[in-house]
Amino acid sequence: MAQPAAAKAPAPARAMGSSNQHSAFKDKTKPAEIRASSITAAKAVADAVRTSLGPKGMDKMIQEPKGDVTITNDGATILQQMKLAHPAAKMLVELSKAQDAEAGDGTTSVVILAGALLDASAKLLSRGIHPTAISESFLRAGEKCSEILTDMATPVDLSDRESLLKSASTSLNSKVVHQHAGTLAATSVDAVLKVIDPAKDTNVDLKDIKIMKKLGGVVEDTELIDGVLFDQKSSSFGGPTRVDKPKIGLIQFCISPPKTDMDNQVVVSDYAAMDRVLREERQYLLNIVKQIKKSGCNVLLVQKSILRDAVSDLAHHFLAKMKIMVIKDIEREDIEYVCKSLNVRPAASLDHFTADTLATAELAEEIQTGSSKMVKITGVQNRGRTVNVLLRGSNKLVLEEADRSLHDALCVIRCLVKKRALIAGGGAPEMEMTLRLSEHSHTLTGVEAYCFRAFADALEIIPYTLAENAGLNPIVTVTELRNRHAKGEKNAGINVRRGQITNILEESVVQPLLVSVSAITLAAETVCSILKIDDVINVVN
Ligand code: ADP
Ligand code: MG
Repeated sequence: MAQPAAAKAPAPARAMGSSNQHSAFKDKTKPAEIRASSITAAKAVADAVRTSLGPKGMDKMIQEPKGDVTITNDGATILQQMKLAHPAAKMLVELSKAQDAEAGDGTTSVVILAGALLDASAKLLSRGIHPTAISESFLRAGEKCSEILTDMATPVDLSDRESLLKSASTSLNSKVVHQHAGTLAATSVDAVLKVIDPAKDTNVDLKDIKIMKKLGGVVEDTELIDGVLFDQKSSSFGGPTRVDKPKIGLIQFCISPPKTDMDNQVVVSDYAAMDRVLREERQYLLNIVKQIKKSGCNVLLVQKSILRDAVSDLAHHFLAKMKIMVIKDIEREDIEYVCKSLNVRPAASLDHFTADTLATAELAEEIQTGSSKMVKITGVQNRGRTVNVLLRGSNKLVLEEADRSLHDALCVIRCLVKKRALIAGGGAPEMEMTLRLSEHSHTLTGVEAYCFRAFADALEIIPYTLAENAGLNPIVTVTELRNRHAKGEKNAGINVRRGQITNILEESVVQPLLVSVSAITLAAETVCSILKIDDVINVVN
């Protein structure tokens, strides 16, 4: 892929060792050069993702050095994979990451907006306006924009499933897997609604929604699992693969011979001593397994251990004999999720492993999914608010992109839980902001009015790009859109399917207010910090 940050990093600050103390400060053109170079580099990044905006946007194929290929439409993913040299270009990558963390969607839009704002500021700078004046006005304009957006928004209730589905679909429509938008939208809405209490929750912990990717089948086969799934099969040592009314325990210690703290060697010279060592080991393991059995546990979950075997072969053998099903290699970061969903308490040592830490359920059984086996536990008593999604896909590229898209859709619903308001999509909010902001600029004076107007015009980049990517004539489309908004049609937007300007709410293209607000404020902030940089100091020896 072409290096987007074509502009090279500027030369390091000149040494100030000259005899004339003031000579270093006489270089008046330098800050301007640095600024120009930052703006050029950052704009190049924005241009690289521009073609992927919107439902008719293009996808990118990213080839990694090792040969792995990713196909994606997600701005944050594209930018993350780029190897950028210029520090200002890297700021845009951080910008899209910030948007990903805050809202989860709108990662392409935020970068495009920042690019357009930088373009506007370059023009303002060339007219001799001071960077500080520009950045202060831009920050205020950003605040004004969020007010305008909030005015436009319509409140939404979490019981209004139809609206939630629509907003998830809007986000999914622009993805590579858009033909499966229906399934994924329904999955994301159901998953979020299962883990929250709509009456009082104001955030969603996405860790409570565990997505498991399994190759095979098609995306349509994706389902919410009624129960708790484990990616592992139960260990094969002749132990049970199906347990009725299981008592489930979770251990964080190992059932294998202990290791010495230091690298030691024990030399065993005769058979009698060897026998003794083996007997000791048997006795040690048997003791642990017996205690586990005594607590009543018959499904044992074991955390993955990096130091030694979590469960040795001999221990497996004993556990199998005592009819205890073993699921090992549970990742450390999954422990919290497992505890919450099964209502089980993890035991860090054998002494803590007692009957009251165990969870009860109706059934634990090994099931076949695609080409591999998984363990599924159903009917968990006092189950926590978590949910399991089994994501399917016919090949790795589709599956990975479906995962990323589902994440975006989940984030969209999360935005609605955080801030229960929706606005129209399709360039309508941006055009409305342009008009209202220019109106507002008439009430201002001097440089600020000028900067506000420039900010307002820059926002037209979103409808312009949407039209361009959809194969429409951008100038004609944006002009018509502007006229319609000027006539008071707040929700007029670009209907990419019909190639016209229509009321976009009737097209069911809606997006969370939070996504747009966060995009505009984050973009304005990043542009301000880029404008304020007047030197790049390289610390390289
Ligand atoms: P991002 O990564 O910024 O979310 P997308 O590729 O998802 O980028 O594009 C989002 C933009 O596409 C938003 O401005 C949204 O309003 C617009 N959009 C999405 N679906 C439609 C549609 N069906 N018609 C018109 N515009 C749409
Ligand atoms: Mg999107």
